[in-house]
Amino acid sequence: MGPPGAGKGTQAERLVKKFGLKHLSSGDIFRAEKASDSELGAALARYMDAGELVPDDVVVEMMAKAITEVDGGLMLDGFPRTVAQAEALDKQLVEADRPLDAVVVMTADDDIIVKRIAGRRACPICGRGYHVTFMPPKREGYCDDCDGAELTQRSDDCEATVRQRLEAYRAQTEAVIGYYRSCDSLSIVDVDGNLDAEVVSVEVIEALASFEAQA
Ligand code: AMP
Repeated sequence: MGPPGAGKGTQAERLVKKFGLKHLSSGDIFRAEKASDSELGAALARYMDAGELVPDDVVVEMMAKAITEVDGGLMLDGFPRTVAQAEALDKQLVEADRPLDAVVVMTADDDIIVKRIAGRRACPICGRGYHVTFMPPKREGYCDDCDGAELTQRSDDCEATVRQRLEAYRAQTEAVIGYYRSCDSLSIVDVDGNLDAEVVSVEVIEALASFEAQA
């Protein structure tokens, strides 16, 4: 959990490799639906392009389906973003006997967030994330892995939309962190997302590995 630009996607990519998990990003799932030109995709685009949260009923239905389709361990990224979503997720996970183990909470300062998001790029083929300054590809503008694939920028990564997304985070998503902190059975890992991605992943991996060893 954390505001846009805190580094959730970057850390998720590293953690899924380390712990053999499947990465489920609600934002990626919605962007794929948006790109398919479906009616649902057009409805999602209206919220996403404005930097607003997609309504809970739509989110819960799409994410419940995506979670059901995965058998093994999961890394949820970008979901849940409201307390109502967190409650629906709990219900689904209790029924499926797949409890949450840990929540990683990342913080970051607004000026760092805006700088990071403005330089953010991704490969449209494999989804790998880059940053023009902090994590550049070997050949400027192109993916290191997918021969010749030109990197793209998300349409909601402009400054005005980022500010709106930060507002939505403060108004609706921060409460979810409080919801999880009050839950005794959950391990919470707090990390400073202002730090270099490498430092953050060492800290998170160490903390999660120690919880795993205790379990
Ligand atoms: P992200 O890639 O996680 O930054 O998500 C991009 C956009 O997708 C957000 O600004 C929201 O419009 C929408 N979105 C993603 N996840 C959720 C969620 N759990 N609840 C509501 N809207 C979401």
